[in-house]
Order: sequence, then C-alpha cells, then structure tokens
Amino acid sequence: MYDIICVGGGAAGLTAALYALRAGKTVLVLEKNSFGGQVAFSPKIENWPGTKEMSGLEFADALTEQVLAKGAELELENVVKIEKGENFRVRTEEGGAYESRAVIISAGVKHRTLGLPGEDELIGNGISFCAVCDGAFYAGQDVALVGGGNSALQEAVLLAETSKSVTILQDLDFLTGEKTLADRLAAMANVKIICGVKVTGYATENGELTGVLVRTKDGKDHRVDCSGVFLAVGLIPENGVFADVVELDGQGYIAADETCETGLPGLFVAGDCRAKRIRQITTASADGAVSALAAIRYIDNVK
Ligand SMILES: Cc1cc2nc3c(=O)[nH]c(=O)nc-3n(C[C@H](O)[C@H](O)[C@H](O)COP(=O)(O)OP(=O)(O)OC[C@H]3O[C@@H](n4cnc5c(N)ncnc54)[C@H](O)[C@@H]3O)c2cc1C
Repeated sequence: MYDIICVGGGAAGLTAALYALRAGKTVLVLEKNSFGGQVAFSPKIENWPGTKEMSGLEFADALTEQVLAKGAELELENVVKIEKGENFRVRTEEGGAYESRAVIISAGVKHRTLGLPGEDELIGNGISFCAVCDGAFYAGQDVALVGGGNSALQEAVLLAETSKSVTILQDLDFLTGEKTLADRLAAMANVKIICGVKVTGYATENGELTGVLVRTKDGKDHRVDCSGVFLAVGLIPENGVFADVVELDGQGYIAADETCETGLPGLFVAGDCRAKRIRQITTASADGAVSALAAIRYIDNVK
C-alpha cells in the first residue's frame, strides 16, 4: 500500500512525488513511456525560472534523479484503470495492481499530429507545438503554422512578433478562431493566411526542415518555404482510461478546484491533463506541488 500513486511521470507527476516524499509519504510513480514527460522533446528550455538555458532532456533527467534520490518508486507501466473502494487500486497493462490512499492523475496531453512521413523525426527539430516555448528559436526566420482555430491564431500572433514571416495553413475555407484575432492577423504585414489547403508532406535537406508541401482543392501541389512548422491542430488529453472513475469535460480534460482535487475524494489531477488555460512546465510543476500537498492533507485526515 502506497500513500500516493502518481499516474504519469512528467513535470507534474514528478513534482508531486517530490513534495509527497519530502513530507514522509510513500510514493509510486507509474509512467508508460519515459520519465520526465513530453518536455524531453524540447531542444531548449529558456523559461524555467532560475536556469538560463537547458535542454528538455536535461530537465527531465535532473528531475527524475532528484525524485529517485528522495526514495520514490518508479515503474515503467501503462495505467489502464483506477478503481475506488476504501482505498484506490491502480491497474496496469503489464498486470500490476497497486493500492494507495490517494491518486494523482498527471497523464499530460498528446499533441495531435498530421500523421505524415518523417513527422516523428522532425518533432523538436523543425516541428513544434508551442510558440511560447519554441517561437524564439525561429526569430527572424520564415515559419508556417498549421491550423485555424483559436489556439492556432493565438500561436500565430505570438510567432508574428518575432518571426520574419508566418504562413497560416488551414484546411477549411475559413479560419474558425475568433474574428478579432483573425482580423488582427490579416492586418499584419508579415502574416499570410492560406485557407483550403491540405498539408501533404514536409521538405527536408540533410535532415533539416526546409518547407511544407500543400495541396489545393483543385489538386495542385505547392511548397511553402520555412525553417519551422508549428502544428496547432488540437490536443488530446491522456484521460480516456479514467473516464469511468472521474468526469471528463467536453474536450476530455478533468476539472478540479484550486487544490487540484477532483469530485472524487482522494483523487487529484495535475498538469496539462487538467482543465486550464496555460500548459507549461512551470504550471505543471505548480499543479504537482499543490496536488501533493492537498493529497497529504486528505491522507492525514482520513487515516
Ligand atoms: C516539443 C515541446 C517543447 C516544449 N517546450 C517547452 C518549454 O520550452 N517550456 C515549457 O514551459 N513548456 C514546454 N513544453 C510544454 C511542457 O512540456 C508541458 O507543459 C509539460 O511537460 C506538462 O507536464 P505534465 O507532467 O503535465 O505532462 P507530460 O509531460 O505530458 O507528462 C505526462 C506523462 O504521463 C504519461 N502517461 C500518460 N498516460 C499514462 C498512463 N495511462 N499510464 C502511465 N503513464 C501515462 C505520459 O507518457 C507522460 O510522460 C513543450 C512541449 C513540447 C511537446
């Protein structure tokens, strides 16, 4: 029996583990891919307070080591079910069934991709999902942005402030984001909006991204030269397997109060998979700390 199980070992889950361990609690972190989470794909982090610059992998490794040194148990297993009785039972695809007094869901999100050849290799090296995180690396360069919803348009506004040019590529014949944002972008001299095109591939030279290939509705192929592509075609919260224990909102996120507690006592949610606006490592870690402290209060009261 553990005091706390964290489902997902990214910035949120590992920070939660750190806080719980420092308070003398026993913690198991279950992670299906690699400890440290999606930030490991970031070539450079410049917005973690107190550290001028580091790679995402350095951040992920340092945090994992810190948590291990405090005595966390880390298992590479895919959680498929959370059951609530007097305590929680967390089941994994690998056959594990672990019990705990509290559970913190910190499973993050997946960025929707286009599923095109070579895409996986270019993620973090030409393809990005986050203008706040990576926009600065393309300062003064041509970038393309795929998508046309609100998030996409917000990303485009940010990119237009630093990039030489931003070409927005949208498959529908119109942008679906707010009109004020669309109007603002249309008035920017370095922004070009192309609707009704489908991205069909990526152009590379020696492994470096050099452009995006698009096809118009009449079947004509074109190439948009750029050194970076930002995909803003949606996020998929990794919460599907928890739907029978906690309510998901219309987009698949889990809502929680200020302490990260869900509607089910003892079940907390932290990081990108929580319903909120800003998804960064600072906010994920903040959720981790808040949820762990709330989980500790819950355990100490119910014990
Ligand atoms: C390319 C890239 C660059 C970025 N750059 C920056 C940056 O410079 N600065 C910044 O602040 N933010 C950046 N971000 C965003 C940042 O990575 C996220 O906000 C942060 O990682 C969220 O942390 P998290 O712990 O909530 O989720 P994640 O890091 O996504 O971690 C969740 C973990 O849960 C695991 N998991 C999911 N489901 C299960 C399951 N069923 N069982 C077990 N494990 C599960 C996943 O494998 C994952 O490792 C970047 C993101 C990307 C993709």
